[in-house]
Amino acid sequence: VGFQSRSPVEQYLHDLLAQIATNTEGTVADYIPELAKANPEHLAVVVVTVDGKVYSAGDADVPFTIQSVSKPFMFGYALQEYGLETVLKKVGVEPTGDPFNSIVLDDVNNRPFNPMVNAGAIAMSELLRGENHAEREATQMDFFSRFAGRKLTMDQTVYQSESDTGHRNRAIAYMMLNSGMINGPTEEVLDLYFRQCSILVTARDLAVMAATLAAHGRNVITGEQVISPGNVRDVLSVMATCGMYDYAGQWMFDVGLPAKSGVSGGIIAVLPGQLGIAVYSPRLDSVGNSVRGIEVCKRFTRDFSLHAYVDR
Ligand code: GLN
Repeated sequence: VGFQSRSPVEQYLHDLLAQIATNTEGTVADYIPELAKANPEHLAVVVVTVDGKVYSAGDADVPFTIQSVSKPFMFGYALQEYGLETVLKKVGVEPTGDPFNSIVLDDVNNRPFNPMVNAGAIAMSELLRGENHAEREATQMDFFSRFAGRKLTMDQTVYQSESDTGHRNRAIAYMMLNSGMINGPTEEVLDLYFRQCSILVTARDLAVMAATLAAHGRNVITGEQVISPGNVRDVLSVMATCGMYDYAGQWMFDVGLPAKSGVSGGIIAVLPGQLGIAVYSPRLDSVGNSVRGIEVCKRFTRDFSLHAYVDR
């Protein structure tokens, strides 16, 4: 392979990662043993524009499980299939200020507070269409693949580990069964949620998925309209208020873009009409967000004036 020059944007991203790589704060998630095996040094940033240009630096093709970054997409699926009115009977749009795995429902409406916390995501899992469990699994994988623009697969070991140790998620699901928010069969609904968290993606995939949200639901690689522009608006609104756990307010203040993070160290951010960003770095801060991922997003959005409320 001969000399390949980087584009100015890729050179910028490369330099940005070099500066941030020295930050070794945070710890890799270990709530399931499999996640603790992630290489803490992995670091990637990928930017994809709505016209499908891809700019990447670092470990952009290292696979990891999508975890909670899946949640806005699953909310999008529910909206697309059932419409807002039906979906809002199952989940609200208010931030909780509590951790993602909190065991609380909104006692006025008996709903999970929003689709970005586990309770809300599990309620969405029940909405997957299919005659039987295998069909619902296939529906799920097909939907995420259409967002990524390529056929995705699941990490069998992480899935097994999620399923073996997900007792808190079981508690959440059974509480919702008790209150009639889900109807069951509860173990099958949970199984779909565990599978969803265990889908393997790369930073490149996540950036394509984020860019597809930026492109109002039209996949920037395949051209397929995956969900409608109106549903994208609703997904992005909930990401803006609830996407970064109990850091959502500070994130909006600093970065100013709708975003979602997950415990394996991925973060996506979306600048509507323009681009999607994905970062990957497994060390997490105390609320569960990627330390270096946040740093990359802060600097990138500041350097290019991408904050939603900046005068451009
Ligand atoms: N599988 C994880 C859980 O449900 C996902 C959580 C996350 O990424 N925040 O606990």
